[in-house]
Amino acid sequence: MTRRRQAQEFEGCLSAFFGLFGLGVKQDTVTSLPYRTKESILTAAENRFYLVLIKAVENKAVIIPKVGLQDVFAINDRENYRSFRNRISTRHIDFLICEVNTLRPMFGVELDDSSHNKAETQKHDLFKNMVFEAALLPLVRVPVKQNYHVEELKAVLQEYFKKEESPQTQPSCPNCKIPMVRKTARHGEFKGSDFYACTNYPTCKEIINI
Ligand SMILES: [Zn+2]
Repeated sequence: MTRRRQAQEFEGCLSAFFGLFGLGVKQDTVTSLPYRTKESILTAAENRFYLVLIKAVENKAVIIPKVGLQDVFAINDRENYRSFRNRISTRHIDFLICEVNTLRPMFGVELDDSSHNKAETQKHDLFKNMVFEAALLPLVRVPVKQNYHVEELKAVLQEYFKKEESPQTQPSCPNCKIPMVRKTARHGEFKGSDFYACTNYPTCKEIINI
């Protein structure tokens, strides 16, 4: 009898024993856990894009696939912390582009497949867009394709790398005394012009016009 088989039989005895006493508590054993390691953590479509993304990012940053939004975003609202955490706890970003040494998030890349045309998915996409915008983290959406061009993707990402500046040249928020982030106004009379916003936004609405 193999060790594995022995373990299974022993476990069978145990569960019969507990079942008899109505406890119904099934103890986890290694052999009872139905996990196996996937061939890759990426789907085939994600992998196709990833290979091009590596070339586009070069060695300017680190690419981390499938990061939970909970690990990317802190929550400023203590009173409603649980509720805001729950809203992001099951969501992830396809690829997070981070600074090499510190793993500070620089921007997110989301690969949009055909499911993104469905109403329900669009609702989730919109929420995700808003979370990124609220946290002042750029989000790049790339439609899923059969083939990608490295140079094309490089040109798109270039803009996001350009916005990245060394912390020394970033101003600090006069209220919070923390580094501010460079943003481009999307609406209103200053649309298209750049400014610095506090990383505590929306709690802190301090901005510095450039
Ligand atoms: Zn501030």
